[in-house]
Amino acid sequence: MNIHEYQAKALLRSYGAPVSDGRAVTKAEDAKTAAGEMDGPLWVVKAQIHAGGRGKGHFKEAEAGEKGGVRLAKSVEEAAEMAKQMLGRTLVTHQTGPAGKQVNRIYIEDGSDIARELYLALLVDRQSSRISFVASTEGGMDIEEVAANRPEKIVSFSVDPASGLSDFHGRRVAFSLGLTGGQVKQCVSLIKVLYKAFVEKDMEMLEINPLIVTPDGNLKCLDAKMSFDGNAMYRHPDIATLRDETEEDPKELAASKFDLNYIALDGEIGCMVNGAGLAMATMDIIKLYGAEPANFLDVGGGATKEKVTEAFKIITSDPNVKGILVNIFGGIMRCDVIAEGVISAVKEVGLKVPLVVRLEGTNVEEGKAIIKNSGLNVIAAENLKDGAEKIVKAVKG
Ligand code: ADP
Ligand code: MG
Repeated sequence: MNIHEYQAKALLRSYGAPVSDGRAVTKAEDAKTAAGEMDGPLWVVKAQIHAGGRGKGHFKEAEAGEKGGVRLAKSVEEAAEMAKQMLGRTLVTHQTGPAGKQVNRIYIEDGSDIARELYLALLVDRQSSRISFVASTEGGMDIEEVAANRPEKIVSFSVDPASGLSDFHGRRVAFSLGLTGGQVKQCVSLIKVLYKAFVEKDMEMLEINPLIVTPDGNLKCLDAKMSFDGNAMYRHPDIATLRDETEEDPKELAASKFDLNYIALDGEIGCMVNGAGLAMATMDIIKLYGAEPANFLDVGGGATKEKVTEAFKIITSDPNVKGILVNIFGGIMRCDVIAEGVISAVKEVGLKVPLVVRLEGTNVEEGKAIIKNSGLNVIAAENLKDGAEKIVKAVKG
């Protein structure tokens, strides 16, 4: 689960990390009061979306020369005007994809003077099964370019969970960032704070880019991107309240309400499968036959008819879906339940694209009979290969 920059900064502040003063607003008329609560002489007006690259992004229907989603203002009035300009518009960055994201909140922040922009991140490294630090002296808006062309400028190491974090790790980050004197001490305490917050809140990723050195030699977190392990949300009700559903794919949101493992993809073939492994195999074989999956969907083991109905509705609501492949290997999941779910969904929302169904396993005969007797225009498949071939043929001709 992702949260906004301003929420991440509030959390960092509560742990004692150095962040600037700032106010979040959702309405243009509140922007002037919010900016007025800070002293200036510089204000930074920042679009809040769950995507990075805002500074270098652009708004849809931007006027010539118009700036991106992070702008500097020299007065309260200018800051308020910028907030008004950005609210409700669609910001496109290299992380949002061409569709962009609508800006519903603005963060107005105290402007900082910057001597150096550094990069610092903590993440769960699946390879080492540990928390890793990633640091670079080349922080700021070009970090992707650094990662691609100058990877030697990025330092990474992990923390052994048995011995935990020690000052040594903080010093290692400090030296790889080229910090000296009092900054090393600041860095050691910052690393402690970030690591503590990361572990306590079950984060998946915490990225500070840029972490700056101010001209008077202090460290400050100028940007913060934070994501949490969704499976740990039950023990963090405080974090769960930070969820912004307007930032999420509506199909994924609906799926999460029904406890379905669904991920939207770009292809044309909707898949309804039980079991993550079979779902992956189904996606692979669709690709093998020359088409692309529109989603990953695992309806799970003990899905009810209602859950299956909902899953089918989510798939059909995607305008990119040109055909649907239902691939079920009934173990705990019963084929007749799947069949009933599919039919009840089709009754509700109709079926405008070809549907191939492959059923195998528990109650397969009952399942097949239900579909056959429904009078629906369903193409039956004998096995996975047959199912994939048939749906790709039905879609691509
Ligand atoms: P993004 O990573 O989405 O582009 P950032 O928050 O990193 O957004 O902002 C982009 C750039 O804007 C930063 O690299 C920094 O140079 C500048 N910036 C951001 N916040 C401030 C601030 N409070 N004061 C001064 N400059 C800022
Ligand atoms: Mg940034």
